[in-house]
Amino acid sequence: ALGYHKVVKENRNLYNMVQDLRGNIRVYCRIRPPFSTETKNVIDFIGKDGSLVILDPLKSQKVGRKVFQFNHVFGPTATQDEVFRDTQPLIRSVMDGYNVCIFAYGQTGSGKTHTMYGPSGGSTKDLGINYLALNDLFQLSNRRKDITEYDIHVQMVEIYNEQVRDLLADDKLEIRSCTGENGLSLPDATMHSVKSTADVLNLMKLGEVNRVVSSTAINNQSSRSHSVLTVHVHGKDVSRSIVRSCLHLVDLAGSERVDKSEVTGDGLKEAQYINKSLSCLGDVITALAQKNSHIPYRNSKLTLLLQNSLGGHAKTLMFAHVSPEGDSFGETISTLKFAQRVSTVELGAARANKESSEVMQLKEQLESLKKALTNNG
Ligand code: ADP
Ligand code: MG
Repeated sequence: ALGYHKVVKENRNLYNMVQDLRGNIRVYCRIRPPFSTETKNVIDFIGKDGSLVILDPLKSQKVGRKVFQFNHVFGPTATQDEVFRDTQPLIRSVMDGYNVCIFAYGQTGSGKTHTMYGPSGGSTKDLGINYLALNDLFQLSNRRKDITEYDIHVQMVEIYNEQVRDLLADDKLEIRSCTGENGLSLPDATMHSVKSTADVLNLMKLGEVNRVVSSTAINNQSSRSHSVLTVHVHGKDVSRSIVRSCLHLVDLAGSERVDKSEVTGDGLKEAQYINKSLSCLGDVITALAQKNSHIPYRNSKLTLLLQNSLGGHAKTLMFAHVSPEGDSFGETISTLKFAQRVSTVELGAARANKESSEVMQLKEQLESLKKALTNNG
């Protein structure tokens, strides 16, 4: 049985390589469980193959059915662990030198923060991808410590009304356009060395406290800012080759249209900035797909910041979050359409920021097979 588990583990590396050959943008859809007050569920069917059928509550079955296709759909009962399991190979590839960007898209209240951070109210149960990812990277770095020495640092910023703020130091910042693939897009944001998951939890708490929240008609605790947790990985292996890559974990501001929020004044300005950066994100991805010579990264702070992880050599995953509720039908359709546009994009082959990532994977396999042999014998 032990041998079997080893083989399964080794196959993960293979799985990683297969993933590299597929398109480098993946789209997962996640459906929030209904609240007890929500009874008009419009999600009709979720297929294991990533299909989703939704019914327009105002139309007949025949004309009101819309079908969408994604890499995977997580239904209302999917747990944080299940979601993480399907994200883990992508996250791990950052340790092999790939830049990775994971972002949560969707209207306010659809579950973005739940997926990235965890439940509202600061509970330490059911923690989300940010925490699980770092926890996993520590474990992996520990497992590889005989062949590679890793340093992990994090930055955490938010973008609010096209201004960038350091969430771990409470300073305003400028993003510099990053030259080269390993360029740091936020050289002035504080860098925090993290050695344990406890370090990470403390920083995440501080960042959440500093995050700007203001009220809208939809949800008076809604986040009107994009928050970005960037994990920098630096690895040196015995043969002296160096891995330098980053993982961006992005909790986007709500994607709902302005009229629905019934906002004026400052709120309206916020909503316009939010719409602008989200549509810039869509434009950048489309331009990449069409292999345009000009990619409009500079049109928003968000795309400028993510530049080195949205290009042709990086891996991108988008979580499209939707509410199951009838009243959200319009927003749900627009989220699904945006996600569908993103998912049909092929960004070309991802490339690691070092030459020998396959060699390193083979070394790792060799090490663990040696250990398995010793354990069994
Ligand atoms: P958003 O960040 O998109 O505005 P939240 O993540 O804050 O939405 O989710 C809205 C509410 O729904 C929160 O109270 C959250 O805890 C709850 N929620 C969201 N997704 C789930 C889920 N998958 N399981 C249980 N509760 C969830
Ligand atoms: Mg949120």
